[in-house]
Amino acid sequence: MKERIKKTDKEWREILTPEQYEIMRKKGTEVPFRGKYYEFFEEGIYHCAACGNELFSSQAKYESGSGWPSFYEPVSEENLEKSRDTSMGIIRIEVKCGRCGAHLGHVFDDGPPPTGQRYCINSLSLEFEGKNG
Ligand code: FE
Repeated sequence: MKERIKKTDKEWREILTPEQYEIMRKKGTEVPFRGKYYEFFEEGIYHCAACGNELFSSQAKYESGSGWPSFYEPVSEENLEKSRDTSMGIIRIEVKCGRCGAHLGHVFDDGPPPTGQRYCINSLSLEFEGKNG
């Protein structure tokens, strides 16, 4: 039961801040080391900032040194969508929200155990919800 959210470009512009729109709809990248969740390690769940889809748990968050929030696994693979990204002359795997298609970041295979994966995600694509709401 995977419902999809589809909105027009105009609707996304109304929902998202200009900064979020640039990243989530235009595949931008926020400045490293400045994002609100880069040095943030409270317990809770990170949702898609555009549609609320559950994406990552604080349990899988770790300090990668990259300058962006990093996770070794998503809450569920089903909540994400991945695609090959060859922009900038390199092959990367783009990570998108499985419900609304928003660009989140990329996943690399240089992460820590137990998965060896590094989900490198823009803070602006996330909305944190603490354990106690
Ligand atoms: Fe979403």
